Amino acid sequence: MYDIAVIGAGPAGYTAAIRASQAGLNVVLFEKDLIGGTCLNKGCIPTKTILYSCNLLSELKNADKYGISADNISFDFIKIQERQKEISAKLRKALTGVIKNHKITIIEEEANVIDSNTIITKNDTYKAKNIIIATGSTPNTIKFPGTYDSNFILTSDDVLNLSVLPESIIIAGSGAIGTEWARIFSSLGTKVTVVEIMKNIIPSADYEVSQRIARIFKRNKIDVYTETSIQEINGNNVKLSNGKELTVDCILIAAGRQPEVNFGEINKAIKTDKFVETSDNYRTKINNIYAIGDVNGKSLLAHSAIKQAEDLIEFIVNGKSKVFDKNLVPSVIYGSPEIASIGCTEQFLIENKTKYKKSIFPVSALGKAHSEDKIEGFIKILADEEKILGTHIISEEASAMIEQIAVAMKNNISPEELKDVIYAHPTYSEGIHESLLTLKETENNI
Ligand SMILES: Cc1cc2nc3c(=O)[nH]c(=O)nc-3n(C[C@H](O)[C@H](O)[C@H](O)COP(=O)(O)OP(=O)(O)OC[C@H]3O[C@@H](n4cnc5c(N)ncnc54)[C@H](O)[C@@H]3O)c2cc1C
Repeated sequence: MYDIAVIGAGPAGYTAAIRASQAGLNVVLFEKDLIGGTCLNKGCIPTKTILYSCNLLSELKNADKYGISADNISFDFIKIQERQKEISAKLRKALTGVIKNHKITIIEEEANVIDSNTIITKNDTYKAKNIIIATGSTPNTIKFPGTYDSNFILTSDDVLNLSVLPESIIIAGSGAIGTEWARIFSSLGTKVTVVEIMKNIIPSADYEVSQRIARIFKRNKIDVYTETSIQEINGNNVKLSNGKELTVDCILIAAGRQPEVNFGEINKAIKTDKFVETSDNYRTKINNIYAIGDVNGKSLLAHSAIKQAEDLIEFIVNGKSKVFDKNLVPSVIYGSPEIASIGCTEQFLIENKTKYKKSIFPVSALGKAHSEDKIEGFIKILADEEKILGTHIISEEASAMIEQIAVAMKNNISPEELKDVIYAHPTYSEGIHESLLTLKETENNI
């Protein structure tokens, strides 16, 4: 009997397996597809690898302004796609090595939980004291009225296998995945139209972030239709709810994800409408079965999955309980400029009648931003006397900057104390200092 059986080898599963093994537990890890899960093979890593090529292409096209000559700049889409797959394969190999070095038994098969201690695969039966479900999520798919080829509709998994760059695309959904792909396709020259059913693009973002990104998209000739949905598709012709009709090469559906849980009878016991419901310490309705990562729907991000895995193993090993605080999870949308945020949005504070101070410091006031000609964006901080309530950054290096705020929020460092830190010059981080200096009471009206 294993101490722990982990199902799914994405960030949640492989972290749980490694931490459990480091704590001296006997672990079996099941993976039906690729070690590394969505993050390493279909999500975070491949998209950031492609975005690196896109950013480099934009820089080279603008090389002249930095005093550098670069003629006949072109790109090879197939090579960009191949590189993305090579990087994933390289990381997958390294990760598999780490898992094996920890003496974790890897079973590369689909696992099915049949009772609280038993897992079956096509070939065998396994027993474990604790079962961790870390089976992740898959892209939502939508069926539209009309007649069209199934290849016309792509998911975020499918776009990673395209060998021909589309000339035009509709991206349905403008969350992190839709926004990153809009940036990728647009920088490679594809005509991009973003269709968003909600009032603002990046609906979960602070409203001023949404507004600014909408402006940047417009400048980059990305068409955006908000409060709009796809009504009907016939061949390559797409009818939108706002009356527009577009002819495009394909549609990318970036409209959320669904949990992957297919455990027959056990499903009924642990799954709610959508995600697997967990109580304290990621416990499902069955005492020794836990669910972490995307599958529990708390936060669909790789670092949330990793944190949940670490906390769960600490609980199983030492009985130490920790609460997952979504408010402290930083989130980043990559591309140039990066978009990073943590904590409350301004609209949330207003809706909840919270008193707060606010500051917005423009990145264009930073020396480093001018040196690199990356002056687009702002650092918006929302705070009260004692703590930072939320921060929303559009800037180069926003992904690195947001961590300072995460450290401050996690450790209850007040805005006053954070302001007292010495920030190196010239950096984008100086903008955090400047923004803290200008925190002011607000009128609470958007
Ligand atoms: C395009 C895209 C870009 C993204 N970019 C980012 C980003 O920049 N930053 C970020 O933090 N997050 C990003 N994410 C989200 C991130 O990938 C997920 O939050 C993360 O992978 C979740 O980890 P997980 O371990 O819960 O699940 P997954 O990574 O989905 O892993 C689950 C694994 O379980 C396996 N599995 C499922 N069922 C079974 C079974 N019955 N038996 C055996 N194995 C099974 C699956 O094959 C899969 O490998 C992105 C996602 C996408 C789609």
